[in-house]
Amino acid sequence: MGEKKKKIVKTIKIDIDKCNGCRACEMICSAFHASPKYSSNNPARSRIRMIREPIRDIYVPVYAGENAKAECMGRDKYVIGEKEYDECVFCRASCPSRDLFKEPDSGLPLKCDMCEGEEEPLCVKWCITDALTCEEREEEVEEVKMGDVGTGLKSLIDKYGFEKIADTISRMSKKG
Ligand code: SF4
Ligand code: SF4
Repeated sequence: MGEKKKKIVKTIKIDIDKCNGCRACEMICSAFHASPKYSSNNPARSRIRMIREPIRDIYVPVYAGENAKAECMGRDKYVIGEKEYDECVFCRASCPSRDLFKEPDSGLPLKCDMCEGEEEPLCVKWCITDALTCEEREEEVEEVKMGDVGTGLKSLIDKYGFEKIADTISRMSKKG
């Protein structure tokens, strides 16, 4: 068992009534994660995606969460404004059943990193309607030891192959 440490955990609160579907959040997220940083703007590289139904004035921002290794078995339905949506539409996971939240070049899963290194998540900063707000709370977490990092890296290499992982690490090290 590792040692417990205090850590600030950030979360993004989404108010769908305030979202106007402008997609500024997708634009800044994809530009921030381009390599080199801000060199391109491709929403497919964004960790936040907009579910849009302009005719019904429905806009739901969904940001990328954990990667799911397999498709889930049971799927719920959501009814919004009399239209039925499959649960997959609002799911935050990158998973084998769809292309959402996958790096377009390597196919590796994308996950929101809260714009690591930035004071405030950029999608929150760029959202002029305040549909996105950042909240912080303190949590006790277990400290990760280097051995755990090695095990995590090994399972990624087993799943995606050494070349893809090495390519992604090299792209990440060129950022900034
Ligand atoms: S920037 Fe804000 S208002 Fe615009 S699409 Fe994103 S969440 Fe909605
Ligand atoms: S917090 Fe940063 S990484 Fe996460 S969705 Fe917003 S812009 Fe993208």
